[in-house]
Amino acid sequence: MSEDNNNGKEYILDADSELRFEIEQKDAKVFVTLISGFAELFGTELVKKKKYEFGIGAKVAIFTYQGCVLQVTGKMDVCYISKETPMIQYINCHAALEQFRTDAEEHDKRGPVILVVGPMDVGKSTLCRILLNYAVRVGRRPLYADLDVGQGAISIPGNIATILIERPASVEEGFAKTAPLVYHFGHKSPSGNSVLYNAVVSKMAEVTLQSLDANKRTKSSGIIVNTCGWVKGYGYKHLLHAARAYRARAIFVLDQERLYNDLLRDVPSNVHVVLLPKSGGVVERTKELRHESREQRIKEYFYGNMRTPFYPFSFEVKFQDLRLYKIGAPPLPDSCMPIGMKAEDNKKKVVAVTPTSSLLHHILTLSFAESTDENVIGTNVAGFCCVTEVDMERQSVMLLSPQPRPLPPNALLLWSELQFMDNHA
Ligand code: ADP
Repeated sequence: MSEDNNNGKEYILDADSELRFEIEQKDAKVFVTLISGFAELFGTELVKKKKYEFGIGAKVAIFTYQGCVLQVTGKMDVCYISKETPMIQYINCHAALEQFRTDAEEHDKRGPVILVVGPMDVGKSTLCRILLNYAVRVGRRPLYADLDVGQGAISIPGNIATILIERPASVEEGFAKTAPLVYHFGHKSPSGNSVLYNAVVSKMAEVTLQSLDANKRTKSSGIIVNTCGWVKGYGYKHLLHAARAYRARAIFVLDQERLYNDLLRDVPSNVHVVLLPKSGGVVERTKELRHESREQRIKEYFYGNMRTPFYPFSFEVKFQDLRLYKIGAPPLPDSCMPIGMKAEDNKKKVVAVTPTSSLLHHILTLSFAESTDENVIGTNVAGFCCVTEVDMERQSVMLLSPQPRPLPPNALLLWSELQFMDNHA
């Protein structure tokens, strides 16, 4: 490591090592340039001599298979080189997936559908990103499904979503999130409504598995499914449900032997269950930090980021024009249910919500469904609004929205437990 006169430092990395750094301070900026050799950030190759910029919240690792020299400027909170990385195991997983894909291509079959599972903060999303990047780098077009309603990497938290990956993730901004398929769930944990969560996951699996058949390249590339970090009790049952719904070919278990053994016992023997180590670089987040990153994701939805700022709109909607619903009615015992219905069905019922001041700060999902007679649970989401004001006297709400025009007359909105404090106005 050497220091140059611009306060920059040169880091010389041996083969199979990575430079890890974290930025926690507001307004801090770090610039990284690859001077020589080859390097990648979570599977995306760095372009030589290009200056990459990272800001607050960045927790990254720049890995090299061959060795490289990196120039780094700016103030970081943590920065070190590590030679202990699980990247070789991860690339072996990619190689195994490639064998499935080649076989699928030759026999016009569906490619591998794999689930990435593990407790919170073990690098599940990062492993998905690496595997997806490696896949597109060799010409594949996989689907990426994110079932983690707590973080919502593709859409916003409280929803599950799928996108087609056509090019490697941008080093600074991750995957392009164009044209996602998004289903509303409305809670930050599957425990908010377990019955609904399973129903939404089943629908997403059914639709995306079918869509695989529409495009030959995507069909053989398969799907990579990211899951929630809740792996005990009902959380575990949700994982088994997702594995069944997606007819998973393999499950990559990060870090937890117990989860690995439970899955070995409970999934059919033709599903490959693979235990993988977590990277020592993965940073554990406190409950507060997780909450903050949820807020940050929602803020980005409305306001964009420093590279691509968005300018959202605000408009008033009268209570009488607000067609607001919630999925899941309060539980009733089976004996009180209409004949032929189970108490469970109540959890998927679409019920009208009367606007009150308690709507303040809540996220409302704009559904493509036009009436509650349609399958609201299985209808794609058009976008999101946030209630920034409730005026009981005027009987109206102010909505923050990425769209300039007021809601379409038949707009159907779905209540979400998630809240966002809009401090920008
Ligand atoms: P999970 O999906 O299991 O919650 P993530 O993949 O989101 O975990 O990882 C948690 C954090 O750790 C992310 O901010 C990610 O950028 C960071 N991270 C992952 N791998 C590394 C690594 N090798 N070095 C440094 N930070 C890492």
